[in-house]
Amino acid sequence: MNKKIWLSSPHMGGTEQDYVNEAFETNWIAPLGPNVNEFENKLEQYLGNDSNIAALASGTSAIHLALVLAGVGLGDEVLCQSFTFSASANPITYQGAIPVFVDSEYDTWNMCPILLENAIKDRIQKKKKPKAIIVVHLYGMPAKMDEINALSAKYEIQVIEDAAEALGSVYKGSKCATLADYGVLSFNGNKIITTSGGGALVCKSLKQKQVAIFLATQARDDAPHYQHSKIGYNYRMSNVVAGIGRGQMEVLQDHVDARRANFDFYKLELNEIEEIEFLEEPKNVISNRWLSCVLTSSFELRESIRLNLEKANIEARPLWKPMHTQPVFEKCTSFTNNVSEHLFERGLCLPSGSNLETSDLKQVIKIIKQSINDFKNN
Ligand SMILES: *Cc1c(COP(=O)(O)O)cnc(C)c1O
Repeated sequence: MNKKIWLSSPHMGGTEQDYVNEAFETNWIAPLGPNVNEFENKLEQYLGNDSNIAALASGTSAIHLALVLAGVGLGDEVLCQSFTFSASANPITYQGAIPVFVDSEYDTWNMCPILLENAIKDRIQKKKKPKAIIVVHLYGMPAKMDEINALSAKYEIQVIEDAAEALGSVYKGSKCATLADYGVLSFNGNKIITTSGGGALVCKSLKQKQVAIFLATQARDDAPHYQHSKIGYNYRMSNVVAGIGRGQMEVLQDHVDARRANFDFYKLELNEIEEIEFLEEPKNVISNRWLSCVLTSSFELRESIRLNLEKANIEARPLWKPMHTQPVFEKCTSFTNNVSEHLFERGLCLPSGSNLETSDLKQVIKIIKQSINDFKNN
């Protein structure tokens, strides 16, 4: 069997273990300490735009805290991009709130601003004005933030940017995760940088960051005994894994460059093939190309490529299955236009790690080309 080629595997730079050792040597084995502070500082410097960052246990917990900070509570409706991973939507239900799903557009595969406005108007008309909007930069491609922020201002609804897949992506000169009221990052094992598991909430003010940290550490009031006037969470990042994050920050830009180079290589090699399409970057936008995705000309062809890759020990996956078609969310209200269902049916994510060799990419390309030839000759 050939060696496994993964979709997106962790890629250590080299200094991570030093920072982890430092945590052991200084006995900062806790959900606080110098690695946590330094990781937050490095992220704040990298993102710029006066970002204030709270390092947390996961991207999912960051979305949950963003909803808490945005005042989302029992029975409130939250508009959420349908074409995404379930973790974008699940925290809405943790608050006893109700997700309402909005479909995508073809330029970025993210939330369609026209459909979003339809949804807002419909919900307001039904006396259910949404409390927040969760927009996602899927696969690292920035969503149409100018249009979405304009609707946010017009209807006075806060926006949460799920940038779990988009660390390093840039929209009109600003880094993703700094473009709305709250930004969310993930450092899960498959993301562009990883702390094994972890996440962060990006806030607009120091005050909000402090509230986020307060809530993430069990909401302890200022007293010598344990006193609480609010419900808290155990969501803070551990100082041990923050050491991995500190090291990963030193190679983040290399990872972005390597993933973009993967995409360029696939595109160069497959561009001539009529049955394969790539998502281009709109003007003034840089995608980190977290995953290189292709759109094929049919579901059958997509499946035949995927299965042939699987036989060769290469991991490839269909694009995200839209939330409005998931059994768990089927009964939710949704505003759809068939875009995400079409993408789900035809799209495939190709191996995209920053540690792939050119020979790995060539192997993937060879099998895709063979599959298409076989498919056409059948
Ligand atoms: C990974 C991911 C999350 C969740 O992040 P975790 O750190 O795994 O909790 C949320 N949204 C999207 C779009 C993701 O890809």
